[in-house]
Amino acid sequence: MNKTILQYFEWYLPDDAQHWKRAAKDAKHLADMGVTDVWLPPAYKGADGIHDVGYGVYDTYDLGEFNQKGSVPTKYGTKDEYIAAVKAFHKAGIGVLADIVLDHRIGADHTEWVEAETVNPENRDEITSDEQEIKAYTLFDFPGRGGKYSQFVWNATCFKGVDFDASTDDNKIYKFIGKKWSRNVDKETGNFDYLMGADIDFQAPYVTEELYRWGEWYLDTVGMDGFRLDAVKHITSRFFEGWLTNLREKSGKELFTVGEYWNAELPILLEYLDNVHNSMSLFDVGLHFNFFNAANAGGNFDMAHLLDNSLVQARPENAVTFVDNHDTQPGQALESFIPAWFKPLAYAVILLREGGVPCVFYGDSAGIPHNDIPPMGEPLEILMKLRQTHAYGPQHDYFDDYNIVGWTREGSEEGPGLAAILSDGAGGEKYMYVGKQHAGETWVPQLPTEDAAANEPVVIDEEGGATFHVPGGAVQVYTKDS
Ligand code: CA
Repeated sequence: MNKTILQYFEWYLPDDAQHWKRAAKDAKHLADMGVTDVWLPPAYKGADGIHDVGYGVYDTYDLGEFNQKGSVPTKYGTKDEYIAAVKAFHKAGIGVLADIVLDHRIGADHTEWVEAETVNPENRDEITSDEQEIKAYTLFDFPGRGGKYSQFVWNATCFKGVDFDASTDDNKIYKFIGKKWSRNVDKETGNFDYLMGADIDFQAPYVTEELYRWGEWYLDTVGMDGFRLDAVKHITSRFFEGWLTNLREKSGKELFTVGEYWNAELPILLEYLDNVHNSMSLFDVGLHFNFFNAANAGGNFDMAHLLDNSLVQARPENAVTFVDNHDTQPGQALESFIPAWFKPLAYAVILLREGGVPCVFYGDSAGIPHNDIPPMGEPLEILMKLRQTHAYGPQHDYFDDYNIVGWTREGSEEGPGLAAILSDGAGGEKYMYVGKQHAGETWVPQLPTEDAAANEPVVIDEEGGATFHVPGGAVQVYTKDS
């Protein structure tokens, strides 16, 4: 099987605590679709309780077990239902990636008086106030959990800063006196250590020890197969390499991991991968924005450059490719949703090419009812199937035209090959080589289209090539008739 991740949530899932139950029921169907791994949303209690998507993390030991923040279950269900869903996925042969949110904590149980100074939000290295006492939400003692699993109490010494002073109701970025932002973080805003809430201090040894302990407890309790790491550009690059190494050594598992480093600049992603010694993959943010720009150029994007500066081109073995996610969907923080007409083209690129591990978005496979966005349906289902049945063997690229580009896979012992052709402008044709061993074979279009030329089978010539057709603003995929 070709590894294929499904991000099994979108931002606006109902706050009904039923998602884990739905997931368990869906596991077999997802396996039939060609999904080999699911990325599940953050499973621990957020500050907004049952309404929290999971990124406003309050208590990482509360997987929907304790009456905290207004309910026992999280947005997605209870701890037992979560573990049952993981087991159902395993039974269906699907691996589970857990979402790890460690940059910050939100929803402290008590405030503390802390000495702090404000910083310029546009340049966090610039101090903009005298030292002052603020009332910070930094004391987490989790009364609803009562010390079960861990007695650790988080207080102001575990954090570097906050964005709220409860004594004045002011929203500013407050850095605690005696703390320094980490240097090994993204350089946007001067220093992007601070993102939100109470920012965790990874330089405090008792904090990292607790996070190592928690990681072991979480892996032991749930038995997941890997991780998606949230907001890694806001966390010292030194932390996760050690955290992952510890868990890999303790468990003996590979623990496939992808980090969310939200930056489209390829050199920055490569530098981070070097810093963490390739201990994880990263989402290919650059490729997402190439899709976004192509889709919004109304047919005037130079398709020859569709893969330029993408991580999958530069370091395919560490690239997780995606089209959209819960942050890029309409209404969300990083909104850059790929228009519907371009989605099949983008999915063909991530699903049918050699490099990278593709991550399919639930909002595309199941739709986003909140925004009346329907599931993609057949084009996505066909492309996901083709990934498992036909995306094998050496690749030949034809990214050589302003409108019409394509590639072929020759096939291998693992499975047969294919020819993919896309156009962001008018329909047309392209001659592509699929391998001399295929001479004389008839290859058949796989995606439904009204375009007559792109609906006709083609015969591979003696040289091992053929002229393939694509409708305007679409993708077509050909495979050997069988
Ligand atoms: Ca941080």
